[in-house]
Amino acid sequence: ARPGYEVRTVVTAERVARRIVAVASGKGGVGKSTLSANLAIALAKAGRRTGLVDADIYGPSQPRLMAVEGTRPEARDKVLLPVATPYGVPLLSMGQLVEPGRAIAWRGPMTAGALGQLIDAHWGATDTLVVDLPPGTGDVQLTMVQKHRPAGAVIVSTPQDLALIDARRAIDLFEKAGVPIIGLVENMAGYACPHCGEVSDPFGHGGAEAAAREAGIAFLGRVPLDIAIRTASDAGQPPAAGTDDRVFAPIAAQVAAWL
Ligand code: ADP
Repeated sequence: ARPGYEVRTVVTAERVARRIVAVASGKGGVGKSTLSANLAIALAKAGRRTGLVDADIYGPSQPRLMAVEGTRPEARDKVLLPVATPYGVPLLSMGQLVEPGRAIAWRGPMTAGALGQLIDAHWGATDTLVVDLPPGTGDVQLTMVQKHRPAGAVIVSTPQDLALIDARRAIDLFEKAGVPIIGLVENMAGYACPHCGEVSDPFGHGGAEAAAREAGIAFLGRVPLDIAIRTASDAGQPPAAGTDDRVFAPIAAQVAAWL
């Protein structure tokens, strides 16, 4: 961590020192939720006791991605109990706090309160929390950096310029708050042919990596645009839970090394 920046290590009744990894993007639809789910699973596979917090108030998609859609967390002593998923990663989602299908129209203090409930839950032995933030730079992000002091942030971007400009704004928010940027992940980078597996680059190659270098932050890797990733995600079977560790394990290894 940088000088002057204090990482808040959450110590619960179980006395577990817990580190938070915030996953952010400048805009929606770039694959932030997909990356968060797969990163959490890959970290768990690498031996970290990892939990997942879905703080995306605009489109909480983790219950579907993690195959626990429709579940409701129970509470003990008014503190939430994370829901077990088939992938060894317990989950709490904003989507579990509202009626299914209802839009969340909360004001700042309510979102801050809800985020607090998800993070300060009965996480037990969990030592790493991956937090899927909403896109952009709103109330949830501010509460996240000011109150919950993540150990670092992972920024997700697509190769297109606009997403990169938006990503710069997200990077700015963390840097201004003194939260270290662990690095940038380029998603939908190149197109993986469903027939032969060859990856081609309809949007050009290397833009995100160059932008990361320019911004002085680490480049954690590329995730190809792959129909198999979308279909697996829709089916509640994140690819990182499978046997192919080529894409997500190296990203998780860099994040784990940071923690
Ligand atoms: P965000 O959280 O940034 O809004 P999502 O993770 O929900 O984005 O992804 C948006 C859509 O794109 C989803 O349907 C998801 O399955 C799909 N998607 C994300 N990453 C990839 C990828 N690398 N290849 C194919 N589809 C992807």
